[in-house]
Amino acid sequence: MPELPEVEAARRGIHDQLRGRTIVGIELLRPGLVQSEAGLTIDLLQDQSIDDTSRHGKYMVWHTEPMALVVHMKMTGQFVARGDGIPGFVSGHPVPAYDTELPHKSTHLILDFEGEARLYFTDIRHFGRIWLVPHDDLADHMARLRLGPDLLSDAFTLEALRDRLRRRSIGRIKPILLDQTTVAGLGNIYVDEVLWYAKIHPSRTAESLTDAEIDRIYEGIVETMKIAVPEGGAKINRSKALTDLGQFPFIHAREGFPCQHCGATITKTKVNNRGTYLCLDCQPERGRLSS
Ligand SMILES: [Zn+2]
Repeated sequence: MPELPEVEAARRGIHDQLRGRTIVGIELLRPGLVQSEAGLTIDLLQDQSIDDTSRHGKYMVWHTEPMALVVHMKMTGQFVARGDGIPGFVSGHPVPAYDTELPHKSTHLILDFEGEARLYFTDIRHFGRIWLVPHDDLADHMARLRLGPDLLSDAFTLEALRDRLRRRSIGRIKPILLDQTTVAGLGNIYVDEVLWYAKIHPSRTAESLTDAEIDRIYEGIVETMKIAVPEGGAKINRSKALTDLGQFPFIHAREGFPCQHCGATITKTKVNNRGTYLCLDCQPERGRLSS
């Protein structure tokens, strides 16, 4: 679930609150979290600091003197920072609840920073990874991921999106947008939001899309990020969904509620086996694959 807005919220939290502070304690509770082809270890962070941060799609990078750390929160990663010396932040998957006592049984890494600040990485499904990469190998490491343009970068233009969708003419639009080599940063929640905004059925083929429809998908991505990034991402919460219909996300996890565009009932289906929410009145199936 952590997608670009949640990863960006974690990056900003780390950048604003922990950057430059000396790391005075490291507790790695699940060794498999950390990987290094170069044989580096997380202990190298002792007495060092995160000097800068960056992000491409759902990958966050911590730049430290001994190495770069490439962080992926995967499906259920959650960062929480607490301590008397910082405002603190939470970002990522909503389970465990953001106010849970930490460490939780699925807390896999704890970093202690000078000045009363502590960062927890918790991941209930154990898919999160941190790759320790020598500085000289970072560019190659990122290039091997073959990521498309980051949604918040200057490289993400209407022309770039059109070009990439034309190359991927066969196949349904939803999985194409989920593929990080098309564009980097969208996941299951935001693709549903974007396609609802653009009024495109998620099973439409890329080749069936008109230029005007691709324009709307581009606009949908830009507008969805404009809402989600400042909010620090989606807070999927069923009880909130019952009351705050005007609140983001507008379509994802809103099955049975009225569409905010037309009032028809939002339905749930599966597209390439991913749970998908849509409004069939706004997003007709025209152009759908026959299979
Ligand atoms: Zn509708």
